[in-house]
Amino acid sequence: MLYTELAKIYEQLELTSKRLEKTFILAEFFSKLNEKEGYIVLLTTGSIFPAYEEKEMGISSQIVIKAISKATGSSTDEIVKKWKSVGDLGRIAEQLVWNKMQSTLFDKKLTTGKVYENLKKAAGFEGQGTVDKKISAIAELLSVSSPLEARYVIRTVLEELRIGIGDAAMRDAIVWSCFGDKLGIKYSKQGNKFEIGDREEYKTYVNAVQRAYDLTTDFSVVFESAKKGVHALEEVQLKPGKPVKFMLALKASTILEGFETVGRPSALEYKYDGFRLMINKSEDGKIKLFTRRLDDVTRQFPEVVDYAKQYVKGNSFMLDSEAVGYDPKRLRYRPFQEISQRIRRKYEIEKLQKELPVEINIFDIIYFEGENLIKKPFLERRKLLERIIQNKKWQLKLAEQIITEDVKEAEQFYKDALKEGEEGIMMKNLNAPYKPGARVGYMLKLKPSEKEFDLAIVGAEYGTGKRSGWMSSFILACQQSGKMLEIGKVGTGIKEKSEKGISFKELTKMLKPSIIKEEGRIALLKPEIVVTVTYQEIQKSPTYSSGFALRFPRFTRLRPDRNIRDIALLEEVKKEYLRQGPK
Ligand code: AMP
Repeated sequence: MLYTELAKIYEQLELTSKRLEKTFILAEFFSKLNEKEGYIVLLTTGSIFPAYEEKEMGISSQIVIKAISKATGSSTDEIVKKWKSVGDLGRIAEQLVWNKMQSTLFDKKLTTGKVYENLKKAAGFEGQGTVDKKISAIAELLSVSSPLEARYVIRTVLEELRIGIGDAAMRDAIVWSCFGDKLGIKYSKQGNKFEIGDREEYKTYVNAVQRAYDLTTDFSVVFESAKKGVHALEEVQLKPGKPVKFMLALKASTILEGFETVGRPSALEYKYDGFRLMINKSEDGKIKLFTRRLDDVTRQFPEVVDYAKQYVKGNSFMLDSEAVGYDPKRLRYRPFQEISQRIRRKYEIEKLQKELPVEINIFDIIYFEGENLIKKPFLERRKLLERIIQNKKWQLKLAEQIITEDVKEAEQFYKDALKEGEEGIMMKNLNAPYKPGARVGYMLKLKPSEKEFDLAIVGAEYGTGKRSGWMSSFILACQQSGKMLEIGKVGTGIKEKSEKGISFKELTKMLKPSIIKEEGRIALLKPEIVVTVTYQEIQKSPTYSSGFALRFPRFTRLRPDRNIRDIALLEEVKKEYLRQGPK
């Protein structure tokens, strides 16, 4: 397919903010694709990788600037200057390619296949000469791009397509395009309405597509299966070695409220303060480890690979767990912040492993010996875990658990958990299935100070005086349907010196590659970094786009294990606001 066809779709999508219209445009476009063109569906998500490899493009703005310069002959200084005022390298590439076209003959055609191939190559280069190779691969595309194509090639490289398509719209577009005729789906642009024959039937198709996505987190696979028919969607299966989205927890504020949601009796477990880890063993004996962002961290945790081989019976499995750091000398748990560098750092692994070991606490299993267990009740899954895991303190063990219906016993367990230095407890429904990717009331978290949110940093203000040159105040956002909504600024909790925790300098360094635009002392940032922030109160506020402001926000931790998609939803903020009650 010619890339220009796709670029025109991107443009149409960018021009409307109506979700239904976007779905319709996408669905029409998908109908033209055959069952081997799932990679084009992937391109419409703004990436060349499925969601679980989200971070892998890894091409900086600096490389892109050099590639634009190489392809168009403009100097990098000129591009940077324009970038500071326009804030979108895609638009700048578009303009410069247009300028160049005025002076050269243009008859080359770019295909979607070529874009996909070159970008995959560019993302994969490693070792010596990597930067130059990346620049050449991108420049090669630009040199045969039309202006509109250049806009979207660059935005895809930077993983910021700006066409406003979320997972739900992708899912619906696949349903409409593959089953639209059968379901009698009709969309009228005029009233921005859509009709369907039978709503219940429609729901079963939406669920089938959603299920396939939850199991694969890969829209290309989902599309290719849906194109073959419902049977193919149903055949999409869990596969150890391929990450699956984790089931997420809701909050409870008291034990009683918890029991009301998850039922009585329920399972209570310690809530360990570490990071989530899915441990996969495939039939060939290979172990793979994935974080909550579905990043593959197998290389960073060789000891966990050994533990999984040594202490878990079975030829294949997928285990859900929390990895907790501890001090190897004093044998005491460490807060997450201190071990988070093990997730990010890809060198000196052995040294880090000795200094910052982790203990694995297993709390769920979704696949065992070729069998998908997600529909089995939690109690049954836990019983299986008890049979296959050999507990080994400080290495790998089952999460501490009791099953009770008694409030007093539950309260005692909660107290014990806190006394042991854990974050709190989890309350779980004994009959619930495992729902990948869903934040449903099958498990609840209960912590003493629940006044905190995970939020994205979407902007920053440079400091003055002794903090000049560093970003010193950070603009935070929650989300609604994938849109970032500002909710306050934070500076408190970030340290002057890095020995004491995350410093202004470190955070500035981390955020610099995400700068989209700078105006005076304010930098607008691409939301890439997730932080946990505590607060004392939520107020209504016309200042911020969420309509709320956090009072006395304090930064408590960086969350390199979390995705932007995981940050707090506006609904959760609203719920917490209402929970505060009248003042
Ligand atoms: P939160 O991070 O506050 O949303 O709390 C939910 C997280 O707690 C999960 O994503 C896990 O990473 C973690 N966790 C710790 N212990 C457990 C446990 N026993 N069961 C489930 N999740 C746990």
